[in-house]
Amino acid sequence: MERLQKVIAQSGMTSRRKAEQLITEGKVFVNGKKITELGTKVDLHQDEVVVNGIPIEKEAPVYFLLYKPAGVISAASDDRGRKVVTDYIETDKRIFPIGRLDSDTSGLLLLTNDGEFANLLMHPKYKVYKTYIAKVEGVPLRETVKKLERGIRLEDGKTAPAKVKVIRSDIKKGTSIVEISIREGRNRQVRRMFEAVGHPVLKLKREQYGALTLKGLNAGEYRELKPHEVKRLR
Ligand code: URA
Repeated sequence: MERLQKVIAQSGMTSRRKAEQLITEGKVFVNGKKITELGTKVDLHQDEVVVNGIPIEKEAPVYFLLYKPAGVISAASDDRGRKVVTDYIETDKRIFPIGRLDSDTSGLLLLTNDGEFANLLMHPKYKVYKTYIAKVEGVPLRETVKKLERGIRLEDGKTAPAKVKVIRSDIKKGTSIVEISIREGRNRQVRRMFEAVGHPVLKLKREQYGALTLKGLNAGEYRELKPHEVKRLR
């Protein structure tokens, strides 16, 4: 038996907080009876849970690591018919991306049908390093690198300490390849950080998520996470 709001969140339908709201608003029925109590325990093997008229099914959780190509939307569907990340993965489960990479960013993206797990990883308190390789305009000075590492004041607040390394610069072309590791995941954060120090990003790829890498994958390819890899992220 598990708490109703947890069961709803785990189905991938919505967050735990939203699930609580739906319950208190009277949108949730268990075995045909409206439930507004948050502590109610249910078991999907025996109980029928209906949210907003939609029955919840318990799916076995699945976890995928995709090498997202650039030009693909980080969503489970797109009303304009553009290519989305779930198009690359063969599964009958209702998976969705954990967080998002910009359409023009390539690299490591996790997908799952486990809403609880996704909410955990997307929570601001969840801190694991995500490493990006950025091709930027210009050649960042050492002082600029330090600034990025210490934190940059952006419109939504100062960024947390980061690790930054200039891998190489092409003086003739006036571009550099920079590795940056951040523990936050704000919208377009890496692009905004480099923009703020006068080195706009020309190309961006996420190489690493905690201990996970893209090793063995080409753009558009994916693999399932191993149980120990999922456990390590929790
Ligand atoms: N930072 C960005 O600017 N874009 C991404 O897609 C991810 C992190």
